[in-house]
Amino acid sequence: MEKVFHFDSPPEPYVADAAVLCCFDQRIRLAIHKFLQQQGIARPDMIVVAGGAKTLASPRNDFERDFILEQVRMSIRLHATQRMLLMSHSDCATYGGLAAFDGDRERESRHHKEELQRGVELLRQIFPGLAVEPYFVNFEGVWELLG
Ligand SMILES: [Zn+2]
Repeated sequence: MEKVFHFDSPPEPYVADAAVLCCFDQRIRLAIHKFLQQQGIARPDMIVVAGGAKTLASPRNDFERDFILEQVRMSIRLHATQRMLLMSHSDCATYGGLAAFDGDRERESRHHKEELQRGVELLRQIFPGLAVEPYFVNFEGVWELLG
């Protein structure tokens, strides 16, 4: 191998502050990054896939859901993860974007609330010891789903 880039990374093993399941949409990446900093989550296990929470709430198939659940299981096993942030976002292309809700942000957010709720229920059922927190990200910030 030939070295093409130099960067010093911390080599020590770590305990993850949280596992974070979110969409790979570049538009929300910085907001999530800043939010994690604000939450004091310095060492997240990032599970970044198209749709984020959708892969658990309404997966395209069993494989997709099982793959993500296995990633969560690995985070818990390898990095003693106790907290999980479950995220979906506005105008997500995997839902057909905001257009799928006729541009109605209220309808979109209601739908995502149901999706997040379904994802939370699944995670709590499979990983009872995991503290799961659902969040919706839009172009103004991050919203916590309450209740
Ligand atoms: Zn998305």
